[in-house]
Amino acid sequence: MLRFDQYVRPKTTREAYDLLQQNRLATVIGGMMWLRLSDRTVPVGIDLSGCGLNEIEETEDSFVIGAMVTLGQLEHHEGFRQMTRSVFTNGVHDIIGTQFRNLATVGGSAYARMGFSDIVTSLLPLDTYVEFTGAGTMRFADFVNGGAARDVLERIIVKKHDYRASFQCLRNSATDFSTLNACAALWDGQWHLAVGARPKKAKFLEGEDLGLPARFSPEELDAACQRARDLNYGTDRRASAAYRAELAEVLSRRAILEAAAQQDVATELRLAAEAAKPKGVSA
Ligand SMILES: Cc1cc2nc3c(=O)[nH]c(=O)nc-3n(C[C@H](O)[C@H](O)[C@H](O)COP(=O)(O)OP(=O)(O)OC[C@H]3O[C@@H](n4cnc5c(N)ncnc54)[C@H](O)[C@@H]3O)c2cc1C
Repeated sequence: MLRFDQYVRPKTTREAYDLLQQNRLATVIGGMMWLRLSDRTVPVGIDLSGCGLNEIEETEDSFVIGAMVTLGQLEHHEGFRQMTRSVFTNGVHDIIGTQFRNLATVGGSAYARMGFSDIVTSLLPLDTYVEFTGAGTMRFADFVNGGAARDVLERIIVKKHDYRASFQCLRNSATDFSTLNACAALWDGQWHLAVGARPKKAKFLEGEDLGLPARFSPEELDAACQRARDLNYGTDRRASAAYRAELAEVLSRRAILEAAAQQDVATELRLAAEAAKPKGVSA
């Protein structure tokens, strides 16, 4: 069972950060869905729910997501869903159930960077930044690769672009962890690809590492998917490394092709509205 010797609910993230630095074993509490599974006594539990981080704000150039925003809140945010082509919504869709997603937070998920995370994989290929109280703002990809120890994550910022994007995953059964997941996004004329649940932390490919031009030939697509296949994979009870490598190639290809086939958001909305119109009855 998880126990706290002391529970604090600071009003500001600076206060939370200072408490975190004062005690090496102090622990930040997000939605507590993952933390509650541990069996230990924490000297100081720092609950961020009083710090005003539970809003999604749309600015001229970004969606600014407070760390305490729940997976459910972001999953159902229509503007964010449309812009990002549902990659987050599809990524979290099979995580346990509605009640769970209404408690687990985007910040707790991004900070923990779990190997199996669908959330990390869905946010990595977008133009995503994370804002910390101590370390300031950095690219999410740089944080996933190592940055910001013992800090308070305040916000996740997703810059606005005309994204073409798709999330794909394979689960052995509904609500199980992904056996492998992949997310591709095209923005600013560049492709970005994340492959996660390898089963280790997601890997991110872009630029020369991915080698995929905005408009690609079948051979260029084959080469990019081969690069996804060549990432390092591990074996666990869900799948072997060899099976994951196969999956990485297939899911990356599906994600890239699905994203590449998308129209701009306005056209897709118009086509969806036309398709939904009742058809005329002919005499
Ligand atoms: C049974 C189960 C099944 C799951 N299945 C999936 C799945 O299939 N796919 C998937 O992607 N995820 C899955 N998850 C993970 C889940 O989606 C969340 O990512 C996870 O619960 C963490 O979010 P939380 O808000 O509960 O964080 P918490 O449990 O509160 O915290 C997690 C960690 O992050 C730290 N932390 C939290 N917030 C902050 C912050 N703002 N700043 C700094 N540190 C912080 C905490 O100290 C802790 O170390 C699963 C979790 C559980 C319990």
